[in-house]
Amino acid sequence: MMMRGRAAPWRAAVAQGPAATAGAGIAGALGLLAGPRLGAALWLGWVSVAGLALTRVGERAMVHLVHGWRPMAATQVGQLRRTAAGYGLDLTQTDLYLARTGVVGAAATGRRSLVLRDSLLRAWTSGSLTDPALAAILGHELAHLRHRDQRYALALYWLALPFTALRAFATPLGHRLLSARAWRYGLPVVLVTAVIQSFLAGDAWTVAVLLAVAAAVWVCPPLARHGTVVQELAADRSVARVGPDAGLREVRQVAAQRLPVAQSPR
Ligand SMILES: [Zn+2]
Repeated sequence: MMMRGRAAPWRAAVAQGPAATAGAGIAGALGLLAGPRLGAALWLGWVSVAGLALTRVGERAMVHLVHGWRPMAATQVGQLRRTAAGYGLDLTQTDLYLARTGVVGAAATGRRSLVLRDSLLRAWTSGSLTDPALAAILGHELAHLRHRDQRYALALYWLALPFTALRAFATPLGHRLLSARAWRYGLPVVLVTAVIQSFLAGDAWTVAVLLAVAAAVWVCPPLARHGTVVQELAADRSVARVGPDAGLREVRQVAAQRLPVAQSPR
């Protein structure tokens, strides 16, 4: 099927790539503790899990493992697909999940995974969330899948895990041990010194990992925030633009209300 809309997996790669590189580097260093051969085998096995996350089966396993989403019951899937179809939205190629935590309303990831917060589904089944409102939410998430916004998110998340774990451990420790000023200015100086020393020692591997850590800590968070804004606007615009079907008028209105900025020309 021809993908319409902007394909933006590169945004995720730019925003999450350094953290994934740093994670892979840290995993490689940890693997070396087990010896070069076993370490390399462990590292390759670990990296191939990220590759598996790009397959259909791997994506299903990963959303359980990483996000804790559970598959939606078949009857609920049927109801949602029929309602969505009434608004011209095709959910037949999408795996539907429910989340109890971690998702505000709905989210999409990988190539075909769409999750609804269980409270949102309850609001819809009880009638407090209307069909057009639900369709607007589903259309927005489907647009994320169509735009491939999160195509590599699961794989990159997996690769970045050693780095994010280390950061989660080191950040509170660093704030406790160092003053705010030392944390803010001292750390970059230490890192730059380490990069220069590793470079002079000809240790390209360490230079790459240190640079990836620096990018993941200082460069990527603002990039990721900007990327998210761009993706959200594009997804809402795509709903607001959906076909000429009269039944979609309400969906468009809901989408426009969700994000008034989406109406501004750009
Ligand atoms: Zn969104």
